[in-house]
Amino acid sequence: MILCAGCKDMRFSLLPERKFDSVTDIEPELLRAMGVELLILDVDNTIAPYKTLTLEKRVTDWAARVKDAGIGLFIVSNNKGERPEVFASLLDIPFLKRAGKPSPRGVRRALELSGTPPERAALAGDQIYTDTVAASLAGVHMLLVEPIRFTNIFLAIRYFFELPFRRERKHN
Ligand SMILES: [Mg+2]
Repeated sequence: MILCAGCKDMRFSLLPERKFDSVTDIEPELLRAMGVELLILDVDNTIAPYKTLTLEKRVTDWAARVKDAGIGLFIVSNNKGERPEVFASLLDIPFLKRAGKPSPRGVRRALELSGTPPERAALAGDQIYTDTVAASLAGVHMLLVEPIRFTNIFLAIRYFFELPFRRERKHN
């Protein structure tokens, strides 16, 4: 399904290609089978809950396995604080913050900096209206994960409005 934003240059989909309970369920073998060489990571509620400054061991172990498989990782976050940089340094990967998703700008910049064509990249994120739209506009694969934790009512309300799109899957 393609939803048009009303502008002919702004065609995008709100449907992810694949869905996972957690980012750590995204197996390197699957990424390789999809031809993905760069996995772009959202931060908030994708690799860590809001406000924490540490990563769980299961996340660092998973990131190491992805990198061992020859797949690059790159943080692209809307977060304006220190967390993108802290996590990028823990994982030893590049990062961009204030990415302005749903704008595809940050995702495109990560592709440019890593020299990756969009069809060889995927974005792992927890939000439909920011991550999925940015991935779609940038032409990269979208892998939707369940948010780690709802820390306030607004996150839960937004999740409710995402449900129609979370239930469907994009068919290429
Ligand atoms: Mg997020």
